[in-house]
Amino acid sequence: MSLVTVGSVAFDAIETPFGKTDKIIGGAGTFIALSSSFYSKTQKIISVVGDDFPQSMLDVFAAKGIDLSGLQIKKGEKTFFWSGRYHNDMNSRDTLITELNVLEHFDPIIPASYQGAEYLMLGNLSPQVQRTVIERLEKRPKLIAMDTMNFWIDIAMDELKKTLALVDVLIINDEEARQLSGEYSLKKASKVIRAMGPKYLIIKKGEHGALLFHGENTFFAPALPLEDVFDPTGAGDTFAGGFIGYLAASDDISFINMKRAIIAGSALASFCVEKFGTEKLLEISHKDIEERIDEFISLANFDMLQTA
Ligand code: AMP
Repeated sequence: MSLVTVGSVAFDAIETPFGKTDKIIGGAGTFIALSSSFYSKTQKIISVVGDDFPQSMLDVFAAKGIDLSGLQIKKGEKTFFWSGRYHNDMNSRDTLITELNVLEHFDPIIPASYQGAEYLMLGNLSPQVQRTVIERLEKRPKLIAMDTMNFWIDIAMDELKKTLALVDVLIINDEEARQLSGEYSLKKASKVIRAMGPKYLIIKKGEHGALLFHGENTFFAPALPLEDVFDPTGAGDTFAGGFIGYLAASDDISFINMKRAIIAGSALASFCVEKFGTEKLLEISHKDIEERIDEFISLANFDMLQTA
């Protein structure tokens, strides 16, 4: 089934305790699209870059089957730039620079060929832009998932609430869930947030896995303990891409299939952090992903009656 992704396509500069990069390719939309393309074969992106964005990366997107007709290239303008520095624990980071550039006046264009998409992933962007995309789709997709961040909770809560009221799945981290709901307990937070609109809530807990809430059901997926974590940038977006890509490919939005989609997203995110930026995502194969999913299954699987 057809999947449309909206999100930043960017340059990032990253510092971690293991090293530092100059400008490399990043952006929430980039990580989501690369990740979901492992599952979803009809995958379309809506975003904007400047004419400083390398054609070689656009070629990589195209080779992955990502439809770029909704990616605007603004002549004489600069691509969004973000820079961050991770603390020693690799879980927390400081944003050093955010240069909105082309994102400042981003007016999403939806090509006619994108209309009728069944799945929509709203990557982290201004909640107004996210809502504009929903409003410009002639037919409401079967499933709308969305990501957001503390930045929008801080400065655009009213807009965020209007967008939240229109989506089915919200994917955020534990800190954002607490900030958005005003509740410390994630169980209480999940009720408050779901009352704002999304029937499904996924709370990511970094190296401690992820929780899925729906109705009275809760599912917990672990994160794989990894030997090397070089750069967590984009792990959340890669998770979201794997999740929505899996759902779109299987065209099944039952709770049980969402559990599988979360494991697919977790497996892809576990690769993302092993190298800087998108590097690892561009190296792996379907076989690598399947093997990693098997590792997740054996990590979390147990039987109270098993004797050997
Ligand atoms: P994550 O590590 O999953 O939070 O995503 C990191 C990506 O989000 C980076 O590649 C950035 O380019 C992008 N990003 C950071 N801040 C913003 C923002 N305000 N709007 C859109 N994208 C952003």
